[in-house]
Amino acid sequence: MTQLHENIVGIDAAIFMHPTTWKASGHVDSFSDPMIDNKDSKKRYRVDHLIEAKAAELKGGGEAEAAEQLLAEMDRLLAADDYTGLRQLLDDQKIVCSVSKTANWTDIRQFNLMFDTQLGSVTEEANTIYLRPETAQGIFVNFLNVQKTARMKIPFGIAQTGKAFRNEIVARQFIFRMREFEQMEMQFFVRPGTELEWYEKWKQTRFDWHLSLGTPKEKLRFHNHVKLAHYANAAVDIEFEFPFGFKELEGIHSRTDYDLSRHQEFSGKKLTYFDTEINKHYVPYVVETSIGLDRMFLSILSNSYEEETITKEDGSTDQRVVLHISPKIAPVKLAIFPLTKKDGLPELAHDIYQKCAQQFRCFYEVKDAIGKRYRRQDAIGTPFCVTVDHQSLEDQTVTIRHRDSMEQQRIAINDLIQTVQAAMA
Ligand code: ATP
Repeated sequence: MTQLHENIVGIDAAIFMHPTTWKASGHVDSFSDPMIDNKDSKKRYRVDHLIEAKAAELKGGGEAEAAEQLLAEMDRLLAADDYTGLRQLLDDQKIVCSVSKTANWTDIRQFNLMFDTQLGSVTEEANTIYLRPETAQGIFVNFLNVQKTARMKIPFGIAQTGKAFRNEIVARQFIFRMREFEQMEMQFFVRPGTELEWYEKWKQTRFDWHLSLGTPKEKLRFHNHVKLAHYANAAVDIEFEFPFGFKELEGIHSRTDYDLSRHQEFSGKKLTYFDTEINKHYVPYVVETSIGLDRMFLSILSNSYEEETITKEDGSTDQRVVLHISPKIAPVKLAIFPLTKKDGLPELAHDIYQKCAQQFRCFYEVKDAIGKRYRRQDAIGTPFCVTVDHQSLEDQTVTIRHRDSMEQQRIAINDLIQTVQAAMA
């Protein structure tokens, strides 16, 4: 976002901010989920998760249409904040607690997801501060600082990667839902009235970004929000087909001027921008893209991981674990192996390492048979391995082996950097 867009700058905002920030943003009053307790097991659930699990069960049993109807009904009731209706839906669908197996439920209640702690030693309400539940507010309160110091003109964006904290009642599905997670957000500030155009543009740009990292189109889809958050005039999720079904990976939201106006109101400080093209002061509108880094990692991992059966030349079979990740995001781009520990091969291999490591991350290893070394790199997704052998000493060539096809070719050491960089482009 920051490197390929000339009008997006990065910042690193604070995790703790003045508590009024969260009052202004609406999080103190309404960052909550409808929850329900099972009186027998004493387990607490998010109501939407219980209903979604029931829908998945119906779908698994071949009742896809009933599942869709159930989800549509849930969306309708959530949008209307109709907790009596939701409670009735649980009863009608005979939804039970997975631990006690009973439907002995409490009423549905709202549960705030922010973690709080005390600032200083006196435990008065005024000293309560919150761990940020999203990184976005740190960008809003810094909007003018960044605009002025980076000399940005609207439209422009501010992006950051950082920790966010939510008191999720049920944190599970590996790293899909955690209480401490990493967000990558970008707030794009635009002229009022143009926000829906930008919203469409960012929807497409973000979708294409996922495709560019090798995620297949059929594993991605848009899901429009039925219930819009209090700040939004349009919102969509990019969903990915995780091993446990299609789930939200990224959100794109048109947040209007809600946040900046509220911070202006609560801080008493102007957050307006002077647009020289139209000679007007205004509070900009915001389109945001918000993705969980951990969820992104999980999507890449689940999409790339394969336990592959290989047929060898003699007809026998073998298994390998291979991570088919795009060379763009592979943690190691090139592994360099001297065939043996002697005859000057490690020296030449180190030489190659030194040259290539200036350009991208490399890995050097001399231990074990070449086949074993290849397999270890396959498992972490290294796209290329090169082997330095006796011929290399004579003609300055190496064998390069491609991770996915396992094909090997002889190339000049001088062409190595360019070959790897071409695959990363
Ligand atoms: P969900 O409906 O799954 O709780 P959300 O709609 O509350 O997610 P947003 O507030 O839009 O999520 O947050 C933006 C992104 O942050 C999400 O798309 C997701 O990738 C990530 N995210 C949100 N909550 C969590 C969490 N508890 N653990 C890991 N990632 C999360």
